[in-house]
Amino acid sequence: MRLERKVAIISGGARGVRSGVPGMGAVEARMFAQEGAKVVIGDILEDEGQDLAQQIRDAGGEAIFVLLDVTVEEQWETAVAAAVENFGTVNVLVNNAGVSGRGRVEEVSAEEWDRVMDINAKGVFLGTRAVIPAMRQAGGGSIINISSQLGLVGTDNSSPQYQASKGAVRLLTKATAIQCARDGIRCNSVHPGPIATPMTEEGRGDEERVRLLVSRTPLGRYGRPEEVAYGVLFLASDESSFMTGSELVIDGGWTAQ
Ligand code: NAD
Repeated sequence: MRLERKVAIISGGARGVRSGVPGMGAVEARMFAQEGAKVVIGDILEDEGQDLAQQIRDAGGEAIFVLLDVTVEEQWETAVAAAVENFGTVNVLVNNAGVSGRGRVEEVSAEEWDRVMDINAKGVFLGTRAVIPAMRQAGGGSIINISSQLGLVGTDNSSPQYQASKGAVRLLTKATAIQCARDGIRCNSVHPGPIATPMTEEGRGDEERVRLLVSRTPLGRYGRPEEVAYGVLFLASDESSFMTGSELVIDGGWTAQ
């Protein structure tokens, strides 16, 4: 198994568990557990998170849920403590929690800017800072930050606060990679294109929006959460042991043109 003996925290791992359209974090949690990891699912969605942890345990895996708002420092401390108490250490952190935003640059309020930056960028920083001591003690680890293709290039059909937050994640990843390399802690960013998850569910009901996004994606469709999760799994495993500070682009070709 590819993640045997690894303990992984996944933020934002609960959405869509009951609806049958799971988010990427939920798919990663299941895949990690199938590959032998002990998984800590952190989310603001308590009921769905508890359900997912139970489903994983029912399938023979190991998982717990912790209530985690990624913008709250103390809750990160609690999540790391729960991982150490239940499973002994932390080897992997997937900073997956995120929200989209609305509006064009002239329309966005300062409050809305702060909301998206707090969850998408500051949340990644707080999570990274919280796991480093445990990873250092474990002799190393892998931090995987979920950015976006919109952390690499701009677009007119997404909010400026979302794009800025994902760009921040890209360079926070590189700073972390360089500063933590000597501790054996790797840090890489993942850049998905449009993926069929709860986040994009409303947009996928809008024919014009679907046509636009699909026309900008050379592979001509939305990606599936599994197609991102396989990349995250690779970065979490020792198969990627010489990768740090890099960008894994899984965007159907969006940024190739
Ligand atoms: P999703 O909405 O299905 O999942 C996001 C998760 O984050 C949910 O479980 C939600 O409850 C959680 N979350 C939100 N705010 C939180 C907070 N303050 N604290 C803790 N958890 C919180 O979305 P998804 O599409 O699975 O997105 C996962 C990641 O991938 C996000 O960072 C997103 O920005 C990124 N992404 C998504 C797409 C896409 O097209 N779906 C493309 C590129 C990048």
